[in-house]
Amino acid sequence: MQRTNRLRVTVGGDLTSAPISSIAQTMTELRLFNSLTRQLETFIPVHAGEARVYTCGPTVYNYPHIGNMRAYVFADTLGRVLSYKGYKLTHVINITDVGHLTDDADAGEDKMEKVAAEKAQSIWDIARHYTEAYWADIKALNIRQPAHWSIATDYVPAMIEYATSIADKHCYELDSGLYFDTSTVANYGALARAKTEDGEGRIEEVEGKRHAADFAIWRKTPAGETRQMEWDSPWGKGAPGWHLECSVMSEALLGLPFDIHTGGIDHREIHHPNEIAQNQARCNSDHSGARFWMHNNFLIERSGKMSKSSGEFLRVQLLIDKGFHPLAYRLMCLQAHYRSELEFSWEGLQAALVRLKRMVMMIERLRSRADAEPMGQADMTISQVDEALSDDLNTPRVLDIAFSISDEKGYASDRLDAIFECDKVLGLNLATLTRTDLRVRPKSAIITEAAIEAALAARKEARAAKDFAKSDAIRDDLIAKGVEVMDGDLLGWDWKLDV
Ligand code: AMP
Ligand code: ZN
Repeated sequence: MQRTNRLRVTVGGDLTSAPISSIAQTMTELRLFNSLTRQLETFIPVHAGEARVYTCGPTVYNYPHIGNMRAYVFADTLGRVLSYKGYKLTHVINITDVGHLTDDADAGEDKMEKVAAEKAQSIWDIARHYTEAYWADIKALNIRQPAHWSIATDYVPAMIEYATSIADKHCYELDSGLYFDTSTVANYGALARAKTEDGEGRIEEVEGKRHAADFAIWRKTPAGETRQMEWDSPWGKGAPGWHLECSVMSEALLGLPFDIHTGGIDHREIHHPNEIAQNQARCNSDHSGARFWMHNNFLIERSGKMSKSSGEFLRVQLLIDKGFHPLAYRLMCLQAHYRSELEFSWEGLQAALVRLKRMVMMIERLRSRADAEPMGQADMTISQVDEALSDDLNTPRVLDIAFSISDEKGYASDRLDAIFECDKVLGLNLATLTRTDLRVRPKSAIITEAAIEAALAARKEARAAKDFAKSDAIRDDLIAKGVEVMDGDLLGWDWKLDV
């Protein structure tokens, strides 16, 4: 098929393959919650010394909301912990640029085709624009580059080959596509713990389907129509199904079985059970294809601002526009365990930002001290951090450990080492983040930082000269311009730009 404006992929290469710790042997065994068994299990890699992880990536028809980004902060944390534990990590995140329907359960239109039609634009342009926006969020949240960004449309020939290999035994053809017969594999839906009857109500019926849960692995272009994205196949012109894509890309890049498959908790219900069914068919086995299936719980927001259809929906860029450093959002995510629901609020984000500021200022103070002799704080921290992470990625505990390292006693260099040890898995950039970085300028600000500093200097002079009328006037003018003057702020922050 004809494609234009091909998306260029930047591959992170070696970044994630290097262990960030070489002390794996001395560590506590890693226990992770496996959604398949609903139990904590010890992580034993399929290939000694390696960890192979696949994460379901975004469908690039719109900007990701901050809830979506929680899924990638979680996957990144998992990757960092595996690296910390000394495993050679191969992480794959896919980009879905075809095949995801408006309803996960196999009904509706292709999300990409729908937006392209609404905007009268090429799907390739839309995919490129939103993939780049997603990558910008990945960078802003300090999520490490995976070894591979796999782009679904690059794998269509492999998808056709895969579907052909399972078609005879496991699929049947209807006018609308090639369907997977879920009764041909053992324990379909075990991951979701769904009974067949649950499926009946939640899945829109397609005429001719043998079972409600059966799903299209190839969707034929309806007669007389042309889609922007369509390929020739043994079942006619059409496009792959979303579930097929992840099975194909994970097998191609990681081999079956691999270690861990991740996604948001909604994927536990339909998308991942369908991937598992395909993996079972492909391998002629009951194995799900991955040793662990791990799911992050949702970020929720009560006023509906996380809906992509609401005008000002919650994107990382919106947080930045309102004056929040994106790493404050990362910290907010890490304060909750990944399996807990997390409620978003601006107050919660503000509290996370203050916590980050405190840490940055403590690091500044520790850096200004000159003692050189270590006293073992880092070693002590390593064992505490390791214990917390080994307990199903207990990041709230690691944050507590990092924040309990005070700057009052002991050797500064030692304490700094201990903080940076925690940051290997927290990913808050604590070694480089500065106060200036944290002063993110709200988009609506009408005064520059230089003008604020100049006004505050003039106010200081006026106060020294006991000209309180003048100093009050300067302060009132700053308030009118959205500047909160913070005399005697415990963090030494002096001023803040409000939105
Ligand atoms: P999508 O682009 O819709 O396929 O979603 C990308 C990822 O975000 C998937 O892993 C979803 O399960 C996850 N996700 C969607 N909504 C939320 C949310 N509110 N909180 C956390 N994860 C989410
Ligand atoms: Zn997927």
